[in-house]
Amino acid sequence: MSPDALPDMAHKRAEITPEAPGFTDAASGRVWGFADINRAADAVAAALLHHGMNEGDRLALLCLNRVEFFVLLFACQKTGIILCPLNWRQPVPELLETLAPVRPRALIHDAPHAGLAADLARDTGLAVFSFDDLADWMASPAPPRNAPIPAERPWYLLFTSGTTGRPKAVIQTPRMAWANAVNIGQAVALTGADTSVNFLPLFHTAGINLYTLPLFLNGGHSTVLPRFEPETILALIRAGQVTQFFGVPAIFQAFSLLPDVERIDWTTLRCGCGGAPLGEPLIRFFAARGCKVLNGFGMTETGPTVFLMDAARASDKIGSVGHAQMLTDVRLAGVPDGQPGEGEIEMRGPNITPGYFDNPEATRATFTEDGWLRSGDIGRRDGEGYYFIVDRIKDMYVSGGENVYPAEVERVLHSHPDVLEAAVVGVPDAKWGEVGEGFVIARPGTRLDPQALRPWCRARLAGYKVPTRLHLVEDFPRTAAGKVRKSELRARDAAD
Ligand code: ATP
Repeated sequence: MSPDALPDMAHKRAEITPEAPGFTDAASGRVWGFADINRAADAVAAALLHHGMNEGDRLALLCLNRVEFFVLLFACQKTGIILCPLNWRQPVPELLETLAPVRPRALIHDAPHAGLAADLARDTGLAVFSFDDLADWMASPAPPRNAPIPAERPWYLLFTSGTTGRPKAVIQTPRMAWANAVNIGQAVALTGADTSVNFLPLFHTAGINLYTLPLFLNGGHSTVLPRFEPETILALIRAGQVTQFFGVPAIFQAFSLLPDVERIDWTTLRCGCGGAPLGEPLIRFFAARGCKVLNGFGMTETGPTVFLMDAARASDKIGSVGHAQMLTDVRLAGVPDGQPGEGEIEMRGPNITPGYFDNPEATRATFTEDGWLRSGDIGRRDGEGYYFIVDRIKDMYVSGGENVYPAEVERVLHSHPDVLEAAVVGVPDAKWGEVGEGFVIARPGTRLDPQALRPWCRARLAGYKVPTRLHLVEDFPRTAAGKVRKSELRARDAAD
């Protein structure tokens, strides 16, 4: 194989452990061996080419999590057709905006999204295929394929969750996926003996790459759930069918509130978490039950794994995301290499995207002149080389000339026993330029007076960091990955 090519993932895995179970579909109970997956991907590859799709064409996809997603993904890797998994929570006008720069040639959808697909097709004239077609394709015999895969060829596109504005299509390549498999595989020691559960939406990088694809490459097994079903996941854990899994903080929060959480033996589980700040109360909640939830950092643009906390120091470095992982270099803008300090996190390595699809301006703006990806996040490195995510640059605000990082204020609010979640945004203020506005969700069964939180903050923070106003809310506006849409909170404040 030439150095700029990589193996066909599905073929290679099927060659090594053809009969081992790669996936179980929770909805149907069907177990897929690695050879089944590769055979299905070969058949789908042949059918897509037969239906006029060619290398470089984009294929939009609307579906809940299911094993067929990975069959399509591997078929696209084999053919060079670029898969574009769409966020099915978005209404038609938003999907049209997302798809406009991508110009897909066809759309494929599962049964629950037939209506949405028909609406999109009406507005765009896209060719539409259903998962019934996919089932027919998979059942048709096709010649085996095993061509080397160009490492840099766009494989699929992911749209960033849009917490900062208009979604951009982040190119994902086979090179990124292999590099991520090394980064996360090393960090959490994934092996063929591991079995995990896939429930994060497959239109986000975490759904695909944490840990499902790396686990697949290692010969491990994943149970695929259509969506996040906490009780089903806890039942799988109880049945010994999960050795490790990855979640975002909202997922661990949801588990912590379920009565069944106490009936689980958490001591055998290994858990990774990322995508948003993981609060100390949650880390302590699971640590008290014998499970270290390891905090990690990544982005759609980074495949995603960059940082993951090591278990050995998880208890005394609470809040840290650990060290940069094997294949990724990290530097903090303005901070000398290896020195402690604070600055924007910049990254370089084989897990980093080549850029945004058909958007050279956005790509240029995201990379430094010497080719490092700008994260848009402030990081801090301590004297032992451990990293902490301070906050997003765009979320920082300036009050009376002082920088305030909302994440710090949120941590203090969150440490109050009656606060389940907290979000803080900077809003314009005639006197101070900007001040903090806080939104809190109360822990169920408590009677939280938001005004009582001001003295709580004042006892723990400098005065200029204490939010001027605090509101009790039922929930936050969120992205599909559970992240708080701060732009909407700011807009809510402006409207008030
Ligand atoms: P958009 O780019 O449209 O704003 P997004 O930033 O949410 O969307 P993602 O790629 O899903 O897009 O998320 C990456 C961001 O998530 C990081 O830049 C960082 O701000 C945040 N993040 C990830 N992990 C952590 C973590 N452990 N702690 C704090 N923030 C994190």
